[in-house]
Amino acid sequence: MQTKFIVVLGSVMSGLGKGVVTSSILKILTLYNYKVLPIKFDGYLNYDCGTMNPYRHGEVFVLDDKSEVDMDFGTYERFLNSSLTKDSSITGGKLFNGIIEKERVGEYLGEDVQIVPHLTGFIQQKLLDFAKKTRVDFVVIEVGGTVGDLENGYFIEALREFSLTNDVVFIDVTYLPKIAVVGEQKTKPAQFAFRTLMSVGIRPDFLVCRGAESLSDNARKKLSVQTSLPKEYILDDPDMTSAYLLPDYLLKQGFDKLLFSKFGVTGRKIDSKNLDKWNKSVNNIVSGNEKMKRARIAIVGKYIDLKDSYVSVREAILHAGAMSSVEPEIIWIESETLENRPASEVLGGMDGILVPGGFGKRGIEGMIKAIQYARENRIPYLGLCLGMQLMSIEFARNVCGLRGANSTEFNPKTKYNVIDILPSQIGLDKKGATMRLGAWDMSINKKNSIAFSAYGKRVVSERHRHRYEFNNKFRNMFEKNGLVVSATTKDGKLVEIIEWTDGFGVATQAHPELKSRIESPAPLFSAFITACKNRQ
Ligand code: GLN
Repeated sequence: MQTKFIVVLGSVMSGLGKGVVTSSILKILTLYNYKVLPIKFDGYLNYDCGTMNPYRHGEVFVLDDKSEVDMDFGTYERFLNSSLTKDSSITGGKLFNGIIEKERVGEYLGEDVQIVPHLTGFIQQKLLDFAKKTRVDFVVIEVGGTVGDLENGYFIEALREFSLTNDVVFIDVTYLPKIAVVGEQKTKPAQFAFRTLMSVGIRPDFLVCRGAESLSDNARKKLSVQTSLPKEYILDDPDMTSAYLLPDYLLKQGFDKLLFSKFGVTGRKIDSKNLDKWNKSVNNIVSGNEKMKRARIAIVGKYIDLKDSYVSVREAILHAGAMSSVEPEIIWIESETLENRPASEVLGGMDGILVPGGFGKRGIEGMIKAIQYARENRIPYLGLCLGMQLMSIEFARNVCGLRGANSTEFNPKTKYNVIDILPSQIGLDKKGATMRLGAWDMSINKKNSIAFSAYGKRVVSERHRHRYEFNNKFRNMFEKNGLVVSATTKDGKLVEIIEWTDGFGVATQAHPELKSRIESPAPLFSAFITACKNRQ
């Protein structure tokens, strides 16, 4: 089948969950056993997300191939249960960089290089190359930003031109506000957004209506009259208890059939066995089951105000809980609050403590205090990247007696640099894509370890994103004092997983949360959640 393209645009405002709509469409198509891939367009002029602050932009997601991408990629992968590559990520930065590179080698000799047709042509060529290379049946293109933004205007124009010669369906994810005192859903912003799209030559095939509540008959009727779209092409997407519910909700509205008929694609049946399996996993997350136990899990981090900074960590906890019959209750703790309050006041009553990744000095001492409290009170602990570095520092200070032990990231002059920069990182003056990134194999060296019992095999691969490492100078001393180094890189040079021998404590230099999927939770999270459950 010739590749078909589905374009997901957002209108009225940002933050509507276009990523979830895109992921749900991808999921639906895979349930029909079609080969699918997403493309995400982000209008910013950064080359990638690597240099962005999670406080402003949410989590930076990392793929196997080392690319640092938008957090929507996490949603795509969690729904698709497969790993994506950098080819799916197009940013304004990459496009302009590409155009200038072409201009410098003389590809446009004699011409003045313009947005139309050069940049728009370049975008269309990228889409065609992607389809040719991947040979998928459907590409679902999510356009970041909102219709009417300057940032994505040239991309939308490229898609309009593209639709003249390719099979393209446009979906407008829009918003219906409801003013409490009036008590009625308002369609005017969505109508205006529709008109804005029409004014640039695009007539959406579907509207996906976001709102706090379900789309009322009245609102659907109004939108249908105003947009000339038949009512069934105006889909409902209200707030739900879980994003994973959307694929099924769209199926119930007949979206699949309408989409296929738009493309003139017929003949396939949905794989109902796979759909049932998916719905069962989702149901475990959403409603749990009577056998489930509750567990209170504290996430002690520094970007707590913006929950989007730790989406993958939260999702990994939910996936592991659903699979291990645990209903996790996540308690978000800003680490600085621990710096001037007793740990027992903040962390008493927790069944597990988790310290996620992070950069910079702020809040570090609070996290170390939380780890000490977990170790001394035998509360299960899971450390991710920074959480592993801080578990080392806590152990150095409070078990090995190395006062003032630290990472040179936080104190370059520390006498005991248990976490330090790699020689290969010293002198790097560029900040983009220079960390230890992407998928790395690790060898689990000890059979009698939390790591081995979690993964059940010796060689595993996890994704990384960090500059600093465990300093091998201290390895012997740590091991003599009872810290287990259970996994290293295959050459044995870099420490990957450490564990306490007393109680449940495990931490990894990697980010296993980035590979946790609803259908295959991250093994270390499952081990952690089970330990939290058993502690009760
Ligand atoms: N700041 C630490 C480093 O660069 C940890 C990074 C992280 O947690 N992702 O090594």
